[in-house]
Amino acid sequence: METKEKVTHTPTPWKVYGAGRQIRDEKENVVAIMRQFDDVLDKQLPHIENAAFIVSAVNSHEPLKIALTDIAKLFHDISNHSSYFHHCNEPRCFSNREILAQAEGK
Ligand SMILES: [Zn+2]
Repeated sequence: METKEKVTHTPTPWKVYGAGRQIRDEKENVVAIMRQFDDVLDKQLPHIENAAFIVSAVNSHEPLKIALTDIAKLFHDISNHSSYFHHCNEPRCFSNREILAQAEGK
């Protein structure tokens, strides 16, 4: 049976449009207008730099979560810890599970 991942945000990949003025999804729907962030972003940098950074972070988020999960489980396995990764109380495994939970918004 195929399971579909629950998507809780605009699907990726996101792209930079209009010389950094907008971020759009793969169907070219506007996700963000960079001018909206003028109060919180560094005004010395052009919008395109901030937009590119946001798009890069968003587009790499899911692959990085998958890679960290694989690496964390591999670390657990080769360390011969005594329980399953999801129940392991070794400090590194506990920390890795917290980081993954944070990345998943839990
Ligand atoms: Zn472990």
